[in-house]
Amino acid sequence: MEITYADVKTKAKNLRFKNQAFINGHYVASASGNTFDCINPATGQVLTHVAACDREDVDKAVLAARHAFDKGVWSQTAPEKRKQILLAFADSIEKHQLELALLETLDMGKPISDSLNDVTYAVKSLRWNAEIIDKIYDQIAPTDPNVLALITREPIGVVGAVTPWNFPLYLACAKIGPALVTGNSVIIKPAEQSPLTTIFIAELAANAGVPEGVLNVIPGFGETAGQAMGLHAGIDAISFTGSTEVGKLFLKYSADSNMKRVSLECGGKSPNIVLTDCENLDQVAKQSAAGAFFNQGEVCCAPTRLLVADSIRDELVTKLVNFSKEFQPGDPLDPKTVMGAIVDQTQLQRVLKYIQTGKTEGATLVTGGNQVRQDTGGCFVEPTIFSKVHNAMTIAREEIFGPVLSVLSFKDEAEAIKIANDTHYGLAASLWTNDINKAHRIAKALRAGVVSVNCINSGDVTTPFGGYKQSGIGRESSFYGLEHYLEIKTTWIQLS
Ligand code: NAD
Repeated sequence: MEITYADVKTKAKNLRFKNQAFINGHYVASASGNTFDCINPATGQVLTHVAACDREDVDKAVLAARHAFDKGVWSQTAPEKRKQILLAFADSIEKHQLELALLETLDMGKPISDSLNDVTYAVKSLRWNAEIIDKIYDQIAPTDPNVLALITREPIGVVGAVTPWNFPLYLACAKIGPALVTGNSVIIKPAEQSPLTTIFIAELAANAGVPEGVLNVIPGFGETAGQAMGLHAGIDAISFTGSTEVGKLFLKYSADSNMKRVSLECGGKSPNIVLTDCENLDQVAKQSAAGAFFNQGEVCCAPTRLLVADSIRDELVTKLVNFSKEFQPGDPLDPKTVMGAIVDQTQLQRVLKYIQTGKTEGATLVTGGNQVRQDTGGCFVEPTIFSKVHNAMTIAREEIFGPVLSVLSFKDEAEAIKIANDTHYGLAASLWTNDINKAHRIAKALRAGVVSVNCINSGDVTTPFGGYKQSGIGRESSFYGLEHYLEIKTTWIQLS
């Protein structure tokens, strides 16, 4: 979408914010009447006051969702009909692309050009899930001829979706799409830092034909609304994306309530291995910098540990520093800006603290490291690169979730694999080599859900995404992404 800075600023000024919960087909205030401030991280200004939902609101949403499910207004609708409604929903999101992108940018600080892309990906994800549902067949088991054993899929029931703040719209749609298309009722809780787009699309879904009670949005804090969802006995499955720490809480909530099914898409500390025989070091540097600094580094699968062969480390670091200059933070509303604001003050302080820890623990700061654009009142950090990092250092072990890249080095392939796998995460990994044998060998040895060879973070809605180890449980996207939302039933019919 071609748009000028002036246009974006004018449209942003005239934007209206939907800020209530969406329960049983209507926007409503929280039961307590409480709200929380929704702040633009690029300016520090309050955009609007959002309903702060809690247990009572979750109870109401579960009641509405369960009622709709039991009545069969959606769960018993023909797959083709669900497909058509979800396609209409996707069309409506596409029609509101600029409005949604503006909301996302104002709410969480990402550049408007990235927000526009996020809307495109959200639409693509919804359409893919909508299209698939009337093309899946159930099965008949190869039993004794006197038996007919049907293996059928059924919606699991009421699904609770809990999302983080870094890709609010895209991640909401990546959960809503497969959960709704399989016939479930959904209650979604967006992160308190960036709830606006999720609230907005609830009405678009209703207007597209999603019946009352089938899609509910509960804005609020994790410790209140999020916990109430995790512990609710009326929720059959939770689909969570967020930190590993909170992911573990959802496993506990499940154990302490109704053993609801839990899928977790959690954190990462992804390795990016560069071998001496890679074809084009400029390309490696360009994509590695982009991977680390895209979305202000607030990306679960960001390649934040760059593992480079000793002999080419210094050459690669020089190139990385050059490419990092393209990521100087700017006004997120400017279509030319490639790096925007960190999501809030808390996250800004966290990132700055990690940078200080990197220095204290003896890593070499080669570029960046500072907060910038302070005069705006916003939360901006320079693209930051540390070299001579060891894998035991805090900045190599913990997820920073900011624009901070650590460069480590290795002697040979075996050491590269050892360092790459020496982490409790396992979300993604990248690998650069011109040797197909090494590519296969190393890709197989890496303990990660997605391995990209000669590229960074590749994949789309047709391929599964998710983590090994403490990066999560389950997969999103592709056919695999539907499994979380379905029960499998065997019906054994004895024939006479
Ligand atoms: P977070 O874990 O703090 O919050 C995620 C969600 O959980 C939010 O909606 C929050 O309100 C809720 N929550 C927080 N505390 C809770 C509690 N005590 N009980 C119930 N719910 C609670 O994560 P974040 O800071 O919003 O997002 C950043 C994290 O998300 C990073 O770790 C990142 O790697 C991860 N992430 C993972 C993926 C993936 O696909 N694997 C994608 C994006 C982000």
